[in-house]
Amino acid sequence: MGNKCCCRGSEPPPLRKPEVDVIIPRPPHVTVTIDNPLHENRQPVIEDRNRSAPKRRIMVAMYNYEARDSQDISFKKGDRMEILDDSDGDWLNAVHLITKERGYIPGNYVAAELSVESEDWFFENISRKEAEKLLMSEENSRGTFLVRPSEHNPTGYSLSVKDWEEYRGFHIKHYKIKPLDNGGYYISTNKTFETLAELVTAYTKNAYGLCHVLAKPCKKPQPTMWDLGSTYRDKWEIPRMEISLIRRLGRGNFGEVHYGKWKDSIEVAVKTLREGTMSTAAFLEEAAIMKKFRHKRLVALFGVCSEEEPIYIVQEYMSKGSLLDFLRNDEGKQLEFEELVYIAFQVGSGMEYLESKQLIHRDLAARNVLIGENNIAKICDFGLARVIEDNEYCPKQGSRFPVKWTAPEAIIYGKFSIKSDVWSYGILLMELFTYGQVPYPGLHGREVIDLIEKGYRMPKPTSHHVPDEIYQTMLSCWDSNPEKRPTFEFLTHYFEGFNVTSEVPYREVPD
Ligand code: AMP
Repeated sequence: MGNKCCCRGSEPPPLRKPEVDVIIPRPPHVTVTIDNPLHENRQPVIEDRNRSAPKRRIMVAMYNYEARDSQDISFKKGDRMEILDDSDGDWLNAVHLITKERGYIPGNYVAAELSVESEDWFFENISRKEAEKLLMSEENSRGTFLVRPSEHNPTGYSLSVKDWEEYRGFHIKHYKIKPLDNGGYYISTNKTFETLAELVTAYTKNAYGLCHVLAKPCKKPQPTMWDLGSTYRDKWEIPRMEISLIRRLGRGNFGEVHYGKWKDSIEVAVKTLREGTMSTAAFLEEAAIMKKFRHKRLVALFGVCSEEEPIYIVQEYMSKGSLLDFLRNDEGKQLEFEELVYIAFQVGSGMEYLESKQLIHRDLAARNVLIGENNIAKICDFGLARVIEDNEYCPKQGSRFPVKWTAPEAIIYGKFSIKSDVWSYGILLMELFTYGQVPYPGLHGREVIDLIEKGYRMPKPTSHHVPDEIYQTMLSCWDSNPEKRPTFEFLTHYFEGFNVTSEVPYREVPD
């Protein structure tokens, strides 16, 4: 048997209403709680007292959307739709106010009209580091900006602006937008505004001491589609004939992986499960759990074709393949240190989410992280290791068991926990900062277990630049006492704060 015997921690909570942010307009001054992975209990969203609350529930499109089946409708950015029913999870039943078509629309492609979320400059679910990454894109010039919820103040916001200075080149400055006790916002106490929109408009006309006048909003990346189409909003068995396999991408623990298309249009990655790798029932149970976990740092599982062998797992396609292969290829080898830190942060953030949901990955490694456009990193195969039945994947004797990535208590006693995932994350960091070197070079798995038991730890590499501080973090992940290892929450914040450009003190400049 594989590592099935090990406990999962408590089961994840039942599927919740959408993690996407569907905001329903409320009367002014009423606060709305949103389900936001960055700020689970963040309060105020809509508080524009100058605009009267719409009686009908009108959503405005934030992106273009092309209908994918007969039940959903196409729209263009800026189109308005009236919501007829929002009880169907991520998909809203709506009528398009121009074409008069009725059907489903993806909830994360629209925002309530007149809400702050419908503003192009408002980025709801991003951290400071992600804001920096987006703004630093070459297409953005000086003065490009965005507003995001503050990570420290649950009622405040941050304004991030791209700036240029001769001695530093392009960089990002962040300003705190503070709430007033009686409503309204300010950056500088002597210029207060009733709404965020008014504040932004004022600073687009005059810099008032900011590094630059606000020029244009940063382009918003297209949100992840969690389902292939609205038909799959409540089912995940996909008819096999809808999937075409186009080319082989690789071979993993479970079988082959192909690049393919759903209905000849939507790119997908298809994993074919080698027969005997796991029981269909156990796999389907696990896949059902995986489908419920949604986070921008986890690869989306679209569905399965499980009615005949080989089973297909249909996933979001990640164009640059596994992190391990990426680090070793020409593009990956060129990655600068800052990019590596950004990947460490992204993986930490996905794991922080799993930690909060009490799901153990069990096989966290660079080969199980996938890279997409703009070096977006997402974790895949979370939870699947639990249901592998292949003897080769057995902790004690299997040749495919990832000994070098697994914590000693998991290898020896089968004690898998989020803390054994933290150990694996430490190994992943070593892979990352050495551009894909095999951990414990020159040592066999058996030797590694014995050495680790005696207190040996991988030394700081001499072949690559790994700052002492980061090496100490790796060592903390490899503490022999699992309880003393850091949490993913800590690790994410640690990598997020690495290389921080500090919050700019506001300097008032006379008009
Ligand atoms: P795995 O079975 O996850 O180990 O995958 C084997 C190989 O297939 C990986 O190393 C990737 O190169 C590729 N691959 C797996 N999943 C995806 C995906 N969702 N998108 C793109 N490539 C993938």
